[in-house]
Amino acid sequence: MGRAVVVGAGMVGLHAAYALRRRGLEVTVVDKGEAGMACSFGNAGLVCPSLSAPLPAPGLVGRSLRWMLQRDSPLYIKPGALPETLGWLLAFWRHCNAQDYSQGLLAMLGLNQRTLSLYDMLTADGVEFEMHRQGLLFAFTREGDLVSELDELREVAQFGLPAPQVLARAEVLAEEPNLSDRVVGGILLPAERHVEPHSLSRGMVRWLAARGVDLRQQSEVQAFEHKGDAVVAVQTASGRIEGDLFVLAAGIWTRRLAAMLGSHLPIQAGKGYSLSLSSPNLQFRHALYLAGTKVVLSPYEDTVRLAGTMEFSGMNARLDTVRLDGLRSAARNYLREELRGATESAWTGMRPMTPDGLPIIGRLPRYRNVFVSTGHGANGIFMSPTSGELLADLAVDGESAIDPTPFDPVRFTA
Ligand SMILES: Cc1cc2nc3c(=O)[nH]c(=O)nc-3n(C[C@H](O)[C@H](O)[C@H](O)COP(=O)(O)OP(=O)(O)OC[C@H]3O[C@@H](n4cnc5c(N)ncnc54)[C@H](O)[C@@H]3O)c2cc1C
Repeated sequence: MGRAVVVGAGMVGLHAAYALRRRGLEVTVVDKGEAGMACSFGNAGLVCPSLSAPLPAPGLVGRSLRWMLQRDSPLYIKPGALPETLGWLLAFWRHCNAQDYSQGLLAMLGLNQRTLSLYDMLTADGVEFEMHRQGLLFAFTREGDLVSELDELREVAQFGLPAPQVLARAEVLAEEPNLSDRVVGGILLPAERHVEPHSLSRGMVRWLAARGVDLRQQSEVQAFEHKGDAVVAVQTASGRIEGDLFVLAAGIWTRRLAAMLGSHLPIQAGKGYSLSLSSPNLQFRHALYLAGTKVVLSPYEDTVRLAGTMEFSGMNARLDTVRLDGLRSAARNYLREELRGATESAWTGMRPMTPDGLPIIGRLPRYRNVFVSTGHGANGIFMSPTSGELLADLAVDGESAIDPTPFDPVRFTA
């Protein structure tokens, strides 16, 4: 297992490359575009293990069907895309039950237990990026939403995370004076963080390059060469690359790559949007979760980013103005005045979603040296370091202290 080839230089692929390089492998990372420019680019950057709950949850079937008719809802299913998405949605809805939800939550908490310490390890190891440690503040305009969110966060906190702190209205406004008077209360998760995701991709690329990792950009993987039960090389737009170990970490596109190797992985695009405002008129200390709208506001060094929404409309990079207006109106509802910036840039990214809400990490059936790491859904930024570790444990050592069973690709391919 001397030479590893990682396909995909998003956050997940870069962290897989990092964990493999640290274990002494010679690593090549291949991307069809530029590193960190797909879903890992304009997201909210939350590093919040408290948000580990899988997306399919009890009660979501009814809610998502109602939201289907509403183009500005937090979860939008485009009726016109149903031929492409229906099979996946039916599988997703089947997982919206109490038993799958609590098993999934346990698995995710097991995986994410080391998230914050691995982020500390990155900085100690010399990876340079923008990280903020002031915590995540949930702001609520309805008392009932606070109560139900608190129940969920307390359940998660039992697994070793710091307890959520409830803040009265005046305390929330003292923390964040630019929130509106309509806010009735808040919950502070003091240990959680947020990163500027592109600064992290760039920092990882610099760290990897300094340790001899070969990054080949604009090199789409088009085919695999195999001998018996082993892949021996990938053919890319810019030549052939041999290896002993292959990792498919190509986000939403992993579905296509796995299919080339005879495995069907049910990954669906969960589109999200963001608006980044440079030199904003309003300043914020914390990352904010505007609870009723599920929109996140992330303050960075000279930018504020509004991010959110989940749209099932198939694979496409269209910027839907209704969804972007949804972000603006969320800010309008929660802030004391209109948020403006010197420049405003709109972005959309496709989250790699699985029907059970858990990532797919492990060996791909049929091939002894092909591993996969994808399906990180709405949590790929904070789950990348832990999934990189799990992947390297399995690929190099053949075992891990984390139970890999819930993430095994076999659950979909058997
Ligand atoms: C609006 C929004 C907000 C979000 N907020 C958060 C958040 O706050 N916290 C969090 O943890 N997560 C968040 N996420 C989720 C997170 O962005 C994703 O889970 C994560 O970026 C997925 O990373 P990835 O590496 O799997 O995929 P990607 O970043 O999409 O990378 C995949 C890479 O594979 C390459 N590729 C594809 N096919 C090939 C091929 N054939 N050959 C070579 N290369 C190929 C692509 O070019 C791409 O660079 C958010 C997502 C969105 C959309």
